Amino acid sequence: MAKYLSKETLKVFTNVIEKGMPLDRELANHVAAGMKMWALEMGVTHYTHWFQPLTEGTAEKHDSFIEYVGAPGGSIIEEFSGKLLAQQEPDASSFPNGGLRNTFEARGYSAWDPSSPAFIVDDTLCIPTVFISYTGEALDYKTPLLKALNAINKAATDVCHYFDPSVKKVFSFLGWEQEYFLVDEGLYAARPDLLLTGRTLMGHESAKNQQLEDHYFGAIPERVQAYMKEIEYEAYKYGIPCKTRHNEVAPNQFELAPIYSETNLAVDQNLMIMSIMKRVARKHGFRVLLHEKPFAGVNGSGKHCNWSLGTDTGVGLLTPGKTPEENLQFVTFLVNILMAVYKNDALLKASIMTAQNAHRLGANEAPPAIISAFLGSQLSAILDKLENSTSEEAIVLDSKKKMRLGVALIPEVLVDNTDRNRTSPFAFTGNRFEFRAVGSSANCSCAMIVLNSAVAAQLMEFKADVDARIAAGTSKEKAIFDVLKEYIKITKPIRFDGNGYGEEWKVEAKKRGLDCETSVPLIYDAYLAEKSVEMFKKVGVFNKKELEARNEVKWEMYTKKIQIEARVLGDLVVNHIIPVATRYKNLLLDNVYKLTQVYDKEMALRLSADDTVLIEELSARVSSVKKLVSDMVEARRVANRITSEREKAIAYHDTVVPLFEQIRKDVDNLELIVDDEMWSLPKYRELLFIR
Ligand code: ADP
Ligand code: MG
Repeated sequence: MAKYLSKETLKVFTNVIEKGMPLDRELANHVAAGMKMWALEMGVTHYTHWFQPLTEGTAEKHDSFIEYVGAPGGSIIEEFSGKLLAQQEPDASSFPNGGLRNTFEARGYSAWDPSSPAFIVDDTLCIPTVFISYTGEALDYKTPLLKALNAINKAATDVCHYFDPSVKKVFSFLGWEQEYFLVDEGLYAARPDLLLTGRTLMGHESAKNQQLEDHYFGAIPERVQAYMKEIEYEAYKYGIPCKTRHNEVAPNQFELAPIYSETNLAVDQNLMIMSIMKRVARKHGFRVLLHEKPFAGVNGSGKHCNWSLGTDTGVGLLTPGKTPEENLQFVTFLVNILMAVYKNDALLKASIMTAQNAHRLGANEAPPAIISAFLGSQLSAILDKLENSTSEEAIVLDSKKKMRLGVALIPEVLVDNTDRNRTSPFAFTGNRFEFRAVGSSANCSCAMIVLNSAVAAQLMEFKADVDARIAAGTSKEKAIFDVLKEYIKITKPIRFDGNGYGEEWKVEAKKRGLDCETSVPLIYDAYLAEKSVEMFKKVGVFNKKELEARNEVKWEMYTKKIQIEARVLGDLVVNHIIPVATRYKNLLLDNVYKLTQVYDKEMALRLSADDTVLIEELSARVSSVKKLVSDMVEARRVANRITSEREKAIAYHDTVVPLFEQIRKDVDNLELIVDDEMWSLPKYRELLFIR
């Protein structure tokens, strides 16, 4: 920017980015001119507003820089004004909008988000934008995310002022860890289910799986290493600081993580990385699978969202402090976050739930479909101690009138020392919380909107609670302590340090009153619960109309995903599985027949006994699977007649999905007995072990 903008423009624009000052047309024109100069030097000919619709991934519409000078038909110049930079009107009637825009009022606006840097892909200048309807409702992920980040900045800054009046801004930080599978592209192309749904709808477990855990600790395979290197190289070009790369637990599963950054930026970077990953994979003869559960029987892929808050004065609000007063601030934020998670457990689960992620959660390797928070023994002990002390012991004032924690010193070693509990969906890991339930293909915004909104609302409530006590004559220190103590008691049910994978936990969680719903369409109801509507209103992130519209989209997306899977599964069974099984059966029958031609009846019967058993099993499986597929078609037909998106999604969940497993069971058993040479689909052992 320093190279392409004047000193004055740079100064004003920096204020816009850092302090959220308003952006006027003149400034936009200056920035657009600078951007264009930079872009042309980089060989750019087109520009696009890059936005995040409620589908997965991103959307863009490319326009070239050329414009007529004066009347149409005259000469052409390369033009890019502040107006074009700031706002566009993509004809976006086909993006999901939950009824917020009907198609003839198809206007949706994309508007520039100056806080996320523009970037260049190939010959195109990409400008990160929000996407809103003509009447101002959010049609994307970025709009509510920016609102949530704004809300948490304000609420957290206000709370910081109890401890340090000099704080001007609080940032929300996100460090995502992207898990993924790589599959050889030839094999991928031979699996219509992978190609069309992103996951295998059938496939018997490979004899060797992840039992030996040899993949996790093994060296990165050479072709994969080359792939990773190129992603990192590409990522650096966009300023995305990739830091970690390693094998994951399942065979052919890997992970990539950057250094964390401000949440809005981190989300954009993750979306860019996902598209880079897909693009680069092709160059290396791979396809990358970002689906949450591409293979049954081995681990699925998540996108752990490491999340924390930090001030403009450089203090990590979730980092146990170097000074005692910072420790009280740390405990304050910690307890308020627990409170936000406790009050919004169902909503947080709704924020990460999708048709795909449902396969992963609750399975053996991923957090259960119950939200709880893990603190580790040291922090738990500190909260317990606080709960049982008096305000005089707990908070003391030093000579400079600074408050500090009197009961306990939080050791600095905590950061490296937190017990690692891999089974918790929301775990404290020393200087941040790790939200592990987020799915690998998700836009992290969805979870970040809810988390940041919920914590913002909670911090507002905390401040109101403390201020009310102060107004009633209690000292500030005692007021803070009293409120925290009350919160610590209330939030006990959400704290769980035990094994989240265990069956006992499900029973225990229910007893504690935590949300244990597992049906995806019903989980989405949490968005429309009265307390959620209130919460989002309080922080100014969503109004009720937006929440309703977005839920329509969620239910519709769920139905569509299941619908596509059901169709692909049906086709595969009818066109691949049944014909192959029948062909094999005929081969065996042929054999039986020939035996009767060569031997006497008794001998022939004896020699063909094994074949007959197989023939019978093949016949039984084939007729069973035929019946199940026609049941599935019928269940879909019934569901499709339902007009309410919610009810339709529920019908798909309750009547279509259960048939998938049953169909798969027959197919996988057929895979085991049919001649390998005849089986037309690549098997798990090939998909997972060829690299
Ligand atoms: P793990 O051991 O959980 O696999 P990784 O090293 O793979 O951890 O990833 C940890 C992620 O957390 C990285 O993206 C890192 O930058 C991020 N992170 C570290 N500290 C913070 C913090 N204070 N706030 C947010 N993210 C953080
Ligand atoms: Mg990691």
